[in-house]
Amino acid sequence: MITFSSPFRAVAFETIQNDQYMPAFRNALDESHRNIERILSDKDLPDFENTIESLEYSLTDLKRLELIFFNINSAETNKEIQQIAQELSPLLSEFYNDITLNEALFSRVKAVYLQKEQLSLSPESHKLLEETYKSFIRNGAGLDAEAKVVFRDTTRELSTLTLKFEENLLDETNAYCLHLTSEGDLAGLPAFVIDAAAMEARSRNIPGWVFTLKAPSYTAFMKYSDDRSLREKLYRAYSSRCYHNNEKDNQQIIKRIAELRLQMANLLGYDTYARYVLENRMAENPEKVNRFLQEVIGASLPSARDEVAELQDFALRHNKSITLQRWDWSYYAEKLKTEKFAVSDAIIKPYLMLENVENAIFDLFGRLYGLSFKSNAEIPVYHPGVKTFEVHDCDGHFLALLYLDYFPREGKQGGAWMTNYLEQHKTHSLDIRPHVSLVFNFTKPTENQPSLLTYDELRTFLHEFGHAMHSILSDCRYWSLSGTNVYRDFVELPSQIMENWAEEKEWLEEVASHYATGEKMPETLIDKIIQSRNFHSGYAFIRQLSFGLNDMSWHSLSQPYTGNVVDFEKRAMAPTELFPEVDGCCFSTGFHHIFGGGYAAGYYGYKWAEVLDADAFSLFKQSGIFNRKTAQSFRENILSRGGTEHPMVLYKRFRGHEPSVEPLLERSGLKR
Ligand SMILES: [Zn+2]
Repeated sequence: MITFSSPFRAVAFETIQNDQYMPAFRNALDESHRNIERILSDKDLPDFENTIESLEYSLTDLKRLELIFFNINSAETNKEIQQIAQELSPLLSEFYNDITLNEALFSRVKAVYLQKEQLSLSPESHKLLEETYKSFIRNGAGLDAEAKVVFRDTTRELSTLTLKFEENLLDETNAYCLHLTSEGDLAGLPAFVIDAAAMEARSRNIPGWVFTLKAPSYTAFMKYSDDRSLREKLYRAYSSRCYHNNEKDNQQIIKRIAELRLQMANLLGYDTYARYVLENRMAENPEKVNRFLQEVIGASLPSARDEVAELQDFALRHNKSITLQRWDWSYYAEKLKTEKFAVSDAIIKPYLMLENVENAIFDLFGRLYGLSFKSNAEIPVYHPGVKTFEVHDCDGHFLALLYLDYFPREGKQGGAWMTNYLEQHKTHSLDIRPHVSLVFNFTKPTENQPSLLTYDELRTFLHEFGHAMHSILSDCRYWSLSGTNVYRDFVELPSQIMENWAEEKEWLEEVASHYATGEKMPETLIDKIIQSRNFHSGYAFIRQLSFGLNDMSWHSLSQPYTGNVVDFEKRAMAPTELFPEVDGCCFSTGFHHIFGGGYAAGYYGYKWAEVLDADAFSLFKQSGIFNRKTAQSFRENILSRGGTEHPMVLYKRFRGHEPSVEPLLERSGLKR
């Protein structure tokens, strides 16, 4: 049994044994099946309560169990848990498929949907009805028997091919290494980069230094190595992954994935895959996304060109007669940045002690929303390092449990994330409050030094806390629409908006004081941190937008593409081209966000979310960054509402108009 402990019905982590998970899941699946049988055997005509709402509540126990298990699998896993995950995943996808392809269930859902105008439902119930019906339709429930077979074959082949794409990419990434044996080849590399490369070589039982195509190794080499021809070599290896006409080549796979996605969209009645995806996004349709991309490209391209020209001049001052190539960018950019702003992690970190930052963030939410955070060590945890808090509202009302898990350890995934052990929802008159967890990988304290954060980690802290607020302040009826259960291009608004405080002097002055002396961070340092944020922002914009163009092109096909992959992407990304062409390279064959991960027709979303957060924050800028009234409106119109209405409706209620790109351009120094 997976049990819960009083008084908050928190997960009793200390009592859970790994061998309890599978039986618990089997029980929960059986229970959900029985609940659905009950809906189907109801003699009354289908209505909102006996069908839509009942379906929503039938899955509560199962969903809670999934949260617990998969969160533990990310934060504190081991071989046994991973094994269970492998066993469990097909069971769950089969269960959810059984629901959407259950014809009797779909016909009840449809019967209710068809009367939606006569039902006088609340906006939230209306949304639940719409989302429920849509999820059946989007998974093929409305197709005739023959089309259903094609649909299932298409999705099956798609999932095989996306896995194959990822596998090829991983294999080619792992297969390559740059092995250096002469010390002379290490010119320019800082000691920590050299040490890591030596360690990599030792782990392979070879002498010298090894650089790989994986993130820290590759990016550090491109940034610091003085050897231009080695940078070119590594760049070419990275940018030609899965483009070697061998058994790991991804060109045919990409074309087939795009074709299958188109086929799936066509079956469901959409002209392109992008239209199918975007129907469930704040941006709504491909036309709007394309206009958005064009607008931001137009606004940032002149700055990006200036930045390239400036860096070209800078490079010429350092190295006669070179034409800036892609493998020169990070290298010279790093040098120029150091010349312009002498800020580094080493200088900033002593001012950002974890405990101080935690307190400052608690205070910030106290000032904005009147919240208080009360430590409660009685709440069971899955690891002794996890801290637990009760969050209370301004009137003392209990709002949420909060788990904070700061430090890396074996068994925890990299990165940082926010998640729940329980989502806010209401049953009858009971408001079930959420159990929210934030997981980080911050630097551990040592014997002589507390945990000190980098500036980026401070932003990460704020970012994840913003996600947590979306959940903590949620005031919705249905689990599936509450908290962070919103459209994907809207979910980063509450998190990204919080990062803005890290660029405000007024707040930084409060947060940053030296851990040993207590002395405030010098004003000049704060100024430099803020100024350096916009270094090369035009270039960064254009690079990200070029990926968005590539993504939209592959997913706006209305006919299968049979031509050359490089020609295709060259056409797609031409408006953002800043460098001379490099032959033998291909971007799409390594674009795992859209061909392996879940960002198909969604890459634009990164920039979209920045537009939202900058536009939303501009209201705080106008009224004051601690303004209670603005915060209250953000809480009422956005944070408490989850996905209960279309995000554009919620957004306009807060901001008074649709998001404008102006505040983002201004913030990024791209306004001309
Ligand atoms: Zn996020």
